[in-house]
Formats: sequence, C-alpha cells, structure tokens
Amino acid sequence: MKTGIYPGSFDPITLGHLDIIKRAACVVDKLIIGVLNNSAKKSLFTPEERVAIIRKTTSDIPNVEVESFNGLLVDFADQKQAHIIVRGLRAISDFEYELQIAQTNRKVNPKVDTMFFTTSEEYSYISSSIVKEYAMYGGDVSQFVTPYVETCLKAKIKENR
Ligand code: ADP
Repeated sequence: MKTGIYPGSFDPITLGHLDIIKRAACVVDKLIIGVLNNSAKKSLFTPEERVAIIRKTTSDIPNVEVESFNGLLVDFADQKQAHIIVRGLRAISDFEYELQIAQTNRKVNPKVDTMFFTTSEEYSYISSSIVKEYAMYGGDVSQFVTPYVETCLKAKIKENR
C-alpha cells in the first residue's frame, strides 16, 4: 500500500492544487492531503474550514483523505505510514525552497521521499495568496478556484468586513 501525503496551507484550495491532487492520486494507493495548522501563519480560513472545503472539493476522488496536522511533516508521515511527500513546482522560485525542505526531510527521516509534480501550464501562475487578494478587491476568481470555493471565499470576505 503506497500512501502519499500532500501537505500545504491550502488557504484556499485552488485549481492548481486540485490538478496536482488528481495526478498524484493516480500514482499512489492513498493520498492524504495534510492541511498545515500553523498558528504562526495568518490564514483566511481556519484549518477546520480548509479541511471541510477540500473534502467537498475532492469528494469524487475515492482514494483521497483530508486531515489537518501540526508539528513536523515527517512525524505526520510516520504516523500515517506514508513514505511519499507530494509537492507541486510552479517556477524556478519554488525549486530552491522545495529542494531545501525535501533534503532536510530526507535527512531527518530517510524512509520518506519527496515526489514533485510540475504544474500544468494553465495553472502555473495561480497561488492561494493571489486568489485571496484578488477576491478581496471584488475580482472574479472563477478561473482560479471551483465554484464552491468561490462561494466560500465570498462568504468569508463578507464575514470579515
Ligand atoms: P505552502 O504554504 O506549503 O506553500 P500551498 O498551499 O501554497 O502551501 O502549496 C502547497 C503545495 O502546492 C506546494 O508544493 C506548492 O508548490 C503547490 N502549488 C500551489 N499552487 C500550485 C499551482 N498553481 N500549481 C502547482 N502546484 C501548486
């Protein structure tokens, strides 16, 4: 049983994330989406909200599970008996950071390896932070997120006003 973990903030999940999830779910038996519960990082949605949004967004992919975690990713991977960490690469700027993290994780836990998926061209420019900023100024984000996520974004922004 090959279990992979796709960790991230997913604040909120974008079509870029979804593309990586669909592709990664085809190469592992089980894909656990790990929502990072990091109190130091300010987020728009709470970890519980992000988990619920991702569950709804990925409900048609049978081998995907969604959970939040805090602490070290390699410890979460151990706990879930996962040996693969899935990450997405958008640009060269992602590479340096991702390489460092992947090498550190492997040093700490040599049983865990990182698998990178290169972004599909049409999603390469999408990031959660741009989507949030755009939505806050009333921009149309329907090209970046699913209709459900768009509804959640609008509701959250209204709630915060
Ligand atoms: P983090 O805070 O860990 O960077 P993100 O939610 O921003 O969390 O991203 C999680 C993972 O998804 C990262 O590996 C990131 O490179 C990847 N990712 C984010 N947006 C895209 C995209 N548009 N296309 C491909 N991969 C992406």
